[in-house]
Amino acid sequence: MADTRPNIIFIMSDDHAAHAMSCYGSRINQTPNLDRIAKGGMRFDNCFCTNSICTPSRAVILTGTYNHINEVTTLSTHMDNRLQTYPKLLREAGYQTALYGKWHLGIGPEHCPTGFDDWAVVPGQGIYHNPEFIFKSPNGDTALDGDTTPNGGERRTVMGYVTDLITDYSINFLRERDPDRPFCMMVHHKAPHRPWVSDEKHAAMYLNEEIPEPETLFDDYANRASAAAAAKMRVGVDMNSMDLKVEMPRGMPEHDMRKWAYQRYIKEYLRVIASIDDNVGRLLDYLDEEGLTENTLIIYTSDQGFFLGDHGWYDKRFMYEESLRMPLILRFPREVAPGTVNDDIVLNLDFAPLFLDIAGVEIPGDMQGESFRPLLHGETPGDWREAMYYRYWMHKAHHNVYAHYGLRTKTHKLIYYYSDALGQAGAIDETYGPEWELFDLEADPHELNSVFNDPVYADRVKELKDTLHKLQAEVGDERYYKDVD
Ligand code: CA
Repeated sequence: MADTRPNIIFIMSDDHAAHAMSCYGSRINQTPNLDRIAKGGMRFDNCFCTNSICTPSRAVILTGTYNHINEVTTLSTHMDNRLQTYPKLLREAGYQTALYGKWHLGIGPEHCPTGFDDWAVVPGQGIYHNPEFIFKSPNGDTALDGDTTPNGGERRTVMGYVTDLITDYSINFLRERDPDRPFCMMVHHKAPHRPWVSDEKHAAMYLNEEIPEPETLFDDYANRASAAAAAKMRVGVDMNSMDLKVEMPRGMPEHDMRKWAYQRYIKEYLRVIASIDDNVGRLLDYLDEEGLTENTLIIYTSDQGFFLGDHGWYDKRFMYEESLRMPLILRFPREVAPGTVNDDIVLNLDFAPLFLDIAGVEIPGDMQGESFRPLLHGETPGDWREAMYYRYWMHKAHHNVYAHYGLRTKTHKLIYYYSDALGQAGAIDETYGPEWELFDLEADPHELNSVFNDPVYADRVKELKDTLHKLQAEVGDERYYKDVD
């Protein structure tokens, strides 16, 4: 008898900010196929990552644990592929599992993908045109089956554009699967990660248009801790000719350079996203044609957000909104009413428990996230979280962003820059005096004015610090407390 448990398709792009999706009210582009998912299901307006950087966010998603538990704190700490992950648990429960695209958790016998019936991944970040892929060894899954192929698979360069190829592999997996068993497929686009290279089809988009600038493109970083001004991720001066596809102009004033570079950068970023949107459309069409739409939970998200010229920046890492926020839209006709919106605080930590819940598989007690299945039905449990804990460990490495942790509620954000590598691989060992920031998100949604030292907020600071320390204790991240008086 056929197994009718729901299928799961998890589409995750790399560095796609919610404010570049029309279903989130983008001022700068249209994403009609992503909007099909949102219109057919639910949009989450307060989904956040616990560490805004590629490799760590992926480890959180797979394991359902924070980075201080799974030990993938930075880009240099690759994931031990013996860890418990939701694809492994689903596979043990009879699901067919597959992963295509970006992995970025390490390659080789101890780090290559495990728990998948099939996989094909790009090495590291991968490249856009004619990329190399590593395919799962025909002998099996390295860790599960004892195969000792040095790279855990076969490397081959494939002609084509990376987003098209990842979608081709995904649709091919669906074609060749056993139709009598449910599947869980992870579609991990390499796009739109830097250095943003479009395909031919979209290369002429926006050529004769001016893309609107964000309100904070010329942020002066006043009224905040020193970290914002110290960061080296400014559109223009902190970019290179690979980013902008032309030689950097000499002698252009910084203000003019930022305006010019913003247009070059954002247009190419949006072209790369247009290709993702087309390819998501291909996958949705396939589900419709095969009658799979009704019984499939399909999700679109990104491993973190991104600054689209906001605060004058590109990149991510900071706990500021544009970087912290993950787009999250999902469609699951069996359980989710179309065109719905949720604003509860949901984390990348919660994805693994949700998928296990949907599949009817027991959620292990050591997973730290919560299944948000009740939210899909429009029911928020009375004890749902009202605050989330964040930590960025990669002190100063890449873009000179200082290590920090913090707390976000629906209305406030408290950030503590402890500004120390604390021995983490992939962090730079220079220490600065710690600093705090507090933002009142209702009064100051762009986070331009820290009110940490404003006496009006003294009680609020005390209350939020207490909550922060309580959350740190709850999740077991007390090893590196530096802010206790
Ligand atoms: Ca990323």
